[in-house]
Amino acid sequence: MAEIEGQVKDEQLDPEAEARRRVALAQIRQYPDSALKMAARPVEEFDDDLRRLADRMKLLMVDANGIGLAATQVGVLQRLFVFHINEDEIVALANPEIVEAGEVTTVDDEGCLSIQGVLLPVERPAKIAIAGQDENGADVRYELEEPYSRVAQHETDHLDGVLILDRTTPEARREALASLRPRIVLG
Ligand SMILES: [Zn+2]
Repeated sequence: MAEIEGQVKDEQLDPEAEARRRVALAQIRQYPDSALKMAARPVEEFDDDLRRLADRMKLLMVDANGIGLAATQVGVLQRLFVFHINEDEIVALANPEIVEAGEVTTVDDEGCLSIQGVLLPVERPAKIAIAGQDENGADVRYELEEPYSRVAQHETDHLDGVLILDRTTPEARREALASLRPRIVLG
């Protein structure tokens, strides 16, 4: 895997992959979509609908060249996200709870599939343990280090309606918001 920046992989794509990425991104809510600011509800039914949602999110995440994707980003207000737990493995995690967080924190630039073209410095614990259920309702727990610990925290934030804009420094936030301001195109 290429260098990872928060939720987005940084690598050059061939034209076909770039086309797939654009199609995927068009299905992901973009800032300032109101779904991105809403808190998701706990997953209670581990049924075929949930498994289909998890499968669809995994495909979208891969096509979008991301390493994590939360249900709120596809407009579904359920506490579910998909992410890489290592370079090769993608899992779905429902009702995630960060049950342990190390005292050592690091600051790194994070991107977000819902805030394109922006990288913001975010400070987070470097090591965490996160628990929840898989798409079949079985209890799971993952011990994570960077960058996967960072991705899991980024996705958990999404389920609470929290974005990297809310986690970064006031200065970086100001600059990002200026660059995200809609531009009026004439002609
Ligand atoms: Zn994100």
